[in-house]
Amino acid sequence: MGTAETPWAHEKSWREVREYLDSGNDMAILPVGSVEQHGPHMPMGHDAFAAHHVARDAGQRAGVLVYPTLWYGWTNNHMALTGTVTLRPETLTAVVTDIMASLLYHGFNRVIVVNGHRRANLAPLEIAVNQMRQRTGAALAVVDVGIIAFDRIADIRTTPPGGQGHACELEASHALHMNPHLVDMEKATPQSSNPEPEWMTGHHISDPAVDAPRFFYPKTVEEYRAEIGDQGQSGDPTQATPEKGRAFHEAVVERLIGVIEYIKAREVNVRHRPAPFED
Ligand SMILES: [Zn+2]
Repeated sequence: MGTAETPWAHEKSWREVREYLDSGNDMAILPVGSVEQHGPHMPMGHDAFAAHHVARDAGQRAGVLVYPTLWYGWTNNHMALTGTVTLRPETLTAVVTDIMASLLYHGFNRVIVVNGHRRANLAPLEIAVNQMRQRTGAALAVVDVGIIAFDRIADIRTTPPGGQGHACELEASHALHMNPHLVDMEKATPQSSNPEPEWMTGHHISDPAVDAPRFFYPKTVEEYRAEIGDQGQSGDPTQATPEKGRAFHEAVVERLIGVIEYIKAREVNVRHRPAPFED
């Protein structure tokens, strides 16, 4: 891929991107995250770091160009605690649409959006990818870091059901693997109080040991603030280790490479390349 084999597009010259396309490559990866509270023990950029590192490692191994991480996302609930920044969902849809349109304009035919901010970003990202796919015929996909290797989490976790949530066993482990200097395990405490019946576990979708939600009833920011108090995490981060984080990271990278191969194998006929400055 040129320039010391970095997968990052922003570390390459425009001519290297041209050569990448001219030599038969037509795929790009776009990591998307969120700037939001992750409890007192983890950095606010965790979801962006997760997408960033997963996309980088998969892009490196599969020889796919990775565009710069979009650090911001849609995270209304986490506005409950200081420091979080949220886009409107339609802003996220619009930004990702414009990035994909720019890439198609230059001749890319395939884009995989890697979401590091479970659930919340998914609806706006899926709308962007679905609409653009209908308009252009390009092979566009969304991969969620928290979902793509969901089944593998069962082998990695040691907490009982409810241990995964937010800034939890898994996210804190992943943070310890990626950014150990940014995690303060002395400030990690468990929060797994769930007053609802077992079948009504709407906010535990990120825990594969707990059944999937049956209906969608988003909490208001005020309700969420009351639930998380002055902590911010749900699940149990006290059992996080860098080894669990590495195992999770490798499982996710492996699955993302599987999706890269799947999308590479799709027949694609891009019939329209709408530049953001044209409409
Ligand atoms: Zn997170």
